[in-house]
Amino acid sequence: MLLEIKQVQTEYTRLSKNGAEHTYFRTRSMAVLKCDSCSSTFERAVKQMDYRRLSSKYTHVCPNCNPKRFAQSKGVESRRFWNTTVDLDIDIDKI
Ligand SMILES: [Zn+2]
Repeated sequence: MLLEIKQVQTEYTRLSKNGAEHTYFRTRSMAVLKCDSCSSTFERAVKQMDYRRLSSKYTHVCPNCNPKRFAQSKGVESRRFWNTTVDLDIDIDKI
């Protein structure tokens, strides 16, 4: 679940050719996400994500959880909801 997108400013220092130190800043956007598996809050750089996933329509899993195990549990949930078996042969158009 997407909670917010925030700007994080990082300070860097460089040495000029005369030996003086100059500080400069860079900002980057960070997405604050809530894990749909363990409900913990974590951050991820917006540049590293697909922009279509920056919404709550998609599920997000933190680095501590196993995303493949989470996906399997979602399949079990939907099978229980629709009361179907694993090997059911239904056209996807009829669902
Ligand atoms: Zn998690």
